[in-house]
Amino acid sequence: MISLLARTLQTIGNVSLATAVGMGLLASDVLAQQAAPSPGSAKAVFGAVTLPTQGPSHSVGFYAKGCLAGAVALPADGPTWQAMRLSRNRRWGRPEMIGLIERLSRDAEKNDGWPGLLVGDISQPRGGPMFNGHASHQIGLDADVWLTPMPQHRLTAADRESLPFTSMLAKDKFLTINDRVWTPAHARLLMRAASYPEVERIFVNPAIKKKMCDSWTGDRSNLGKLRPEYGHDSHFHIRLRCPAGSVGCTKQAPVAAGDGCDKTLAWWLGPEPWAKPKPSDKPPVKPREVMVSDLPKACEAVLAAPPVASVRAATYGVKGGGAATGTDTLSNSGNTPPGQIPQQ
Ligand SMILES: [Zn+2]
Repeated sequence: MISLLARTLQTIGNVSLATAVGMGLLASDVLAQQAAPSPGSAKAVFGAVTLPTQGPSHSVGFYAKGCLAGAVALPADGPTWQAMRLSRNRRWGRPEMIGLIERLSRDAEKNDGWPGLLVGDISQPRGGPMFNGHASHQIGLDADVWLTPMPQHRLTAADRESLPFTSMLAKDKFLTINDRVWTPAHARLLMRAASYPEVERIFVNPAIKKKMCDSWTGDRSNLGKLRPEYGHDSHFHIRLRCPAGSVGCTKQAPVAAGDGCDKTLAWWLGPEPWAKPKPSDKPPVKPREVMVSDLPKACEAVLAAPPVASVRAATYGVKGGGAATGTDTLSNSGNTPPGQIPQQ
């Protein structure tokens, strides 16, 4: 990912966004990674925290502007999943999110011919904006799942850092699925994920959405949850609705009725989203860096709250968490210094 990003940053100035999409990056993500965050910025502060707060889980604010209290970690390993890129420390979420990932992994393995999930970024220990990779994922209700099936063997921690992403798109063709990598099991996995009522949206590349529209012959009542978006050609992104009774979690507008195989998809498949800026266009205004003070006020308290004792103590399904469903052999519990809240 790092070398991919470096390459992208070198070239993003003179390639079209369509190429960036082929490389699996959101346009906003690319922009978000051009500069290291300043000390004291929300990205720097939240990115430096290594442990979640104690106490019950709640989401503060919106998916793309908020933070998370009482996060729990997805165990690095379970019978039907493996968490990836462990060094990023982004396998934190609300228990509803972690439980859903585990459930999807089991259901897909049992019913869909999908051997298990490789799980990418969820949220940081206290949510908040990330130094790289995402505009959302800030309140513990977003999770990325690879479109690569889990291998039969346990990946080493080093493998989990370096295993390359596999794009579902054909190289050198505009927004076209590569039928040598895409399988009916991919389609079943996506529709399985969309079938849960707590899942509100699933972001996929427009070419994947088109493939689903053209080929899914089962129940289409949840197809509208699959939302075309830049990137998302090697992973999909599951977004849960704000759980019932979660005060402080800002809801997103509901998905429009219908399967979404309509003019909204046609727009994504047309030239407009991918057009290069014309020389006459004004250069885009660089957005001001988000500071902690720009987030909901309660996020300051989330940053200041005492941490849990260890990663293990806050790992879902491990002692003190929910039902025991996973192990945590690759977690860094035991060598994580407690309370990494940087002083400003
Ligand atoms: Zn994502």
